[in-house]
Amino acid sequence: KSLVIAIDGPSGSGKSSVARETAHRLGLAYQDTGAMYRALALVCLENGVEVHNQAAVEALAKRFYFEQWFDPGVGMVAAGLDQERALDVTDEIREPRVSEAVSAVATNLGARTELIRRQRAAIESVRSRMVVEGRDITTVVAPQAEVRLLLTASEAARLARRGAQLAASGESQTAEQVAAQVLARDAKDATVVEFQRAADGVVTIDSSDLDFEQTVQAVLRLVRE
Ligand code: C5P
Repeated sequence: KSLVIAIDGPSGSGKSSVARETAHRLGLAYQDTGAMYRALALVCLENGVEVHNQAAVEALAKRFYFEQWFDPGVGMVAAGLDQERALDVTDEIREPRVSEAVSAVATNLGARTELIRRQRAAIESVRSRMVVEGRDITTVVAPQAEVRLLLTASEAARLARRGAQLAASGESQTAEQVAAQVLARDAKDATVVEFQRAADGVVTIDSSDLDFEQTVQAVLRLVRE
């Protein structure tokens, strides 16, 4: 029977690692929708498509190749202009140049409509047994999900986590640079999707004072209810 767990939250809320671990423990597929927006931004950058060119980005959204491995233990993403030219972009989509460009494609409503269609098709392809993570999953992509939650964390906790993530991936950035990037992206994202406040029927979990395992347990408890 279907079990869709929709998780929204801002960057640095820990939602990706929590969503992935939850999928792993429950034997569900896992979809990171942010990876799709990031891949579209990367394909724009790599092919000379200006990310603010609305019509060009929308056209690219409709034809670009995107594949995500739904096994939560794999976490691989491939993308390109088409399937023949698709490459493994798992690491590239996390680069700062992509993080900077991604809001421009995410605020493109034509592109959003197409990506949302693909995200819903992905949920159906696994007979609706999936943890889906993003900004508008509880409200737009899968409002009918059996479990809907908003994972939040204080600004201080989010900045500290993003900083630690960047350090672990070998990116050397000052705390000020990390803060500027995270807050600028939140502000841009907030113009399209309201994800800081839970919609009706969505449970909020504030992870500021929870460690990783405690947060996963809080999610699993909700699923059991
Ligand atoms: O979650 P992540 O930081 O990888 O998401 C990258 C960007 O993709 C976000 O900053 C946002 O602009 C966009 N996004 C979105 N809707 C989603 C997921 C991501 O607009 N469901």
